[in-house]
Amino acid sequence: MSGSVSGTVNGGISFWYADDGLPAVREPLGGDSAADVVIVGGGYTGLWTAYYLKKAAPFLRITVLERRFCGYGASGRNGGWLYNGVAGRDRYAKLHGREAAVRLQRAMNDTVDEVIRVADEEGFDAAVHKGGVLEVARTPAQWARLKDFHAHELTFGEKDRELLGARETAERIRVADAVGSTWTPHGARLHPVKLVKALAAAVEALGVTIHELTPVTEIRPQHAVTPYGTVRAPYVLRCTEGFTAGLKGQRRTWLPMNSSMIATEPLTDAQWASVGWAGRETLGDMAHAYMYAQRTADGRIALGGRGVPYRYGSRTDNDGRTRPETVEALRELLVAFFPALAGVRVEHAWSGVLGVPRDWCATVTLDRSTGLGWAGGYVGSGVATAHLAARTLRDLVQLDSGQGGRTELTDLPWAGHKVRKWEPEPLRWLGVHGLYAAYRAADRRERRTSGAGSSRLARIADRVAGRH
Ligand SMILES: Cc1cc2nc3c(=O)[nH]c(=O)nc-3n(C[C@H](O)[C@H](O)[C@H](O)COP(=O)(O)OP(=O)(O)OC[C@H]3O[C@@H](n4cnc5c(N)ncnc54)[C@H](O)[C@@H]3O)c2cc1C
Repeated sequence: MSGSVSGTVNGGISFWYADDGLPAVREPLGGDSAADVVIVGGGYTGLWTAYYLKKAAPFLRITVLERRFCGYGASGRNGGWLYNGVAGRDRYAKLHGREAAVRLQRAMNDTVDEVIRVADEEGFDAAVHKGGVLEVARTPAQWARLKDFHAHELTFGEKDRELLGARETAERIRVADAVGSTWTPHGARLHPVKLVKALAAAVEALGVTIHELTPVTEIRPQHAVTPYGTVRAPYVLRCTEGFTAGLKGQRRTWLPMNSSMIATEPLTDAQWASVGWAGRETLGDMAHAYMYAQRTADGRIALGGRGVPYRYGSRTDNDGRTRPETVEALRELLVAFFPALAGVRVEHAWSGVLGVPRDWCATVTLDRSTGLGWAGGYVGSGVATAHLAARTLRDLVQLDSGQGGRTELTDLPWAGHKVRKWEPEPLRWLGVHGLYAAYRAADRRERRTSGAGSSRLARIADRVAGRH
């Protein structure tokens, strides 16, 4: 499950599990059974959905079916950015008008606070620190993009977002070559595994049945089929995100995109003094192949970026094992940001998969004619989005079953959004690898030249990928 590349633990699902321990696994499904709602997938989406449905209607019999164990997927491996980004907002503005997209943005801002509130109320000890999100620019082209991004966010009502120059940025964090940054208060750092473990325990304590080591092979109306039996329920909710391609008939629905991370050893006080980062903001940049990082509760830097973005045939996982070249590339990125950390040991490296729809728009849907629902396609921003999606799925089920009416959430523009499927192989593999090669080349060119314009290559890649 795990190996060692020059002292770095590679795989083992994630550093967060190495830190907090793997959970005891729950019993698999023991045969055919019935429920009112069956949820496929025990990540944040499935578990928050179970949580909110059971709270709203305690009489519901809810079963969660999880292929490995709750938190095995991205929910146990992510960068721990609980933030207000939602994939597809700009496209939703084009499709449904700006006012609708602003409502979606506000709902995301509120979601960050809602997760923190519920975690607090439930006594989840998830190392949450709300320091906001800081995104830095390190080249003139990134700075130009960052200023455009900042101005663009203001048009979505994000008035509390700040634009910081080089000196103000350095007062927060000393990133080499940083020319400026933008900061929003709507973000917090957390420990992903502590959150998902506590959430699964809370869901179970509410009376939801969770079966682990139970792969669902097929979802049909009113049926979730597994090798150990079928669970029948009027509502079957698919919450499998980056693993969705493994389900019968879903191969081209959401592309499983890899993201890889490293965690350093704990830094010394002197090293932290050289870095700054007292505000513990989640940290990102404006590169096309962007990075994301957090200062962990135990004083490490956990930093991620795209590794090998996509594996042929939508293959997904090997417990997070990561190619040594990717580990080295992330270490080099860490040192490029913080040259004083050149000698710091990388203790752990891992990868996970996220789900990317053909139009890069997250969605939450309940098909009222079949009772089949799903939520996901969050791309890289599912920690908060999954929570909003879960509350929306709750409202959609309540609406459909006559226990509730339309709500602010059911009327958000991402509810019920449909998108075409990805191309078949080999086009899918060629397309995604070409896309990331183009992004890396664009980043290299922007670092070499001092021009302020975004590389044309990246703009073309965005268009081809369906991102704009
Ligand atoms: C390395 C990495 C870093 C990330 N960093 C961030 C971040 O900092 N901030 C952010 O907002 N987002 C981040 N994301 C994305 C975020 O983690 C996800 O969007 C979010 O966790 C998705 O939750 P989910 O429950 O929908 O999916 P998952 O957590 O992937 O859960 C799906 C579950 O379904 C199970 N499953 C799959 N197929 C089946 C089946 N056939 N039968 C039964 N069970 C099945 C899986 O085992 C898994 O447990 C990151 C993702 C990765 C991979």
